Amino acid sequence: MSSGDLPQTDPQQRWKSSWQDAKTRILNNTQRTALHVVPRTARVSKLDADLLDDELTEMLREPVTQAVSLLKPGFVDKWKLEIDTAIKAVLFWLSVGSHRRATYGQTLQNLTYEAQGRSLVKRIHMFGILSIGGGYAWTRLMRHLSLRGWADAPAGSLRSRIWKAVDRLERFFKVATLVNFLAFISTGQYKTVVERLLGLRLVYARPQMAHSVSFEFLNRQLVWHAFTEFVMFALPLVNPAKARAWVVRNARAVLRLPGASVDPVVAALPDHICPICFTQTDEAQQQQPQQGGTGDANHVVNPYVTPCGHVYCYVCIQTKIMTEGDECCCLRCGSQVKQVCQYVEQ
Ligand SMILES: [Zn+2]
Ligand SMILES: [Zn+2]
Repeated sequence: MSSGDLPQTDPQQRWKSSWQDAKTRILNNTQRTALHVVPRTARVSKLDADLLDDELTEMLREPVTQAVSLLKPGFVDKWKLEIDTAIKAVLFWLSVGSHRRATYGQTLQNLTYEAQGRSLVKRIHMFGILSIGGGYAWTRLMRHLSLRGWADAPAGSLRSRIWKAVDRLERFFKVATLVNFLAFISTGQYKTVVERLLGLRLVYARPQMAHSVSFEFLNRQLVWHAFTEFVMFALPLVNPAKARAWVVRNARAVLRLPGASVDPVVAALPDHICPICFTQTDEAQQQQPQQGGTGDANHVVNPYVTPCGHVYCYVCIQTKIMTEGDECCCLRCGSQVKQVCQYVEQ
């Protein structure tokens, strides 16, 4: 056998051509599967997002209702449905209608709307009009028909037939909603019927982020709730004047300062003037001592004397001792006063 009988093709060339062949097939297959892979998102995130949105609407409803109630008595009751719809519409077009393509609750859950094809913006506007506008129109229609008594119209009449058709339509929609929700529970896609009709899917806005449920906000809220409850419980037990006096007293003891700072004006007051009455009278009256302003106004009434030998009204010094916690500081000399006794003039 001569060398001319051997196959002339280079083995490397054959490997190359078979690789090229396989490569195109692999690429085709990956593209085909990529179209069918639907990114899975947690159902609980979508339901949580709905709860958050409901709370936001609730928060907005109160101030809006209060503001509108000032317009006319009975206005809120008459236009309650319109006010609610307006709030929902504003929230929807500020959040989903913006570049974010998700409600505020969905943004917190790292979700965003996505649709196959290029008509996402159109579909989102359609979704808003159908779910908010459609819901409003349907509720108004049902209310109008039942108020006009179409339900009790004689059988066989046009009104009766229209009422029956509307009633059937509503039942059908309720059943469809239930079936859709069951499908959502099982597949995790399309929470509402309108979303399913429009093909609007909720996907993760940033897929690289952790897909677990974020408890950060929940934890923060729990901490603040517990803290507020504790403050509400503890506040009535604290006497602010007593606490302040305690802090001042201990701070001065630590810093080795005298018991209390003494105002030289108060220290220089004549003996028949009560320093507490003097400090409690307003500034205008304190400006007048030159004109005899301290005269009779701050005279000691029912005089009691402190261990340091300074005289106060009984009510003034006793109130000060009680509010500051069984002891207080003398305004004239700064020494501690725990009890007083009646002043007897010698
Ligand atoms: Zn007094
Ligand atoms: Zn004193």
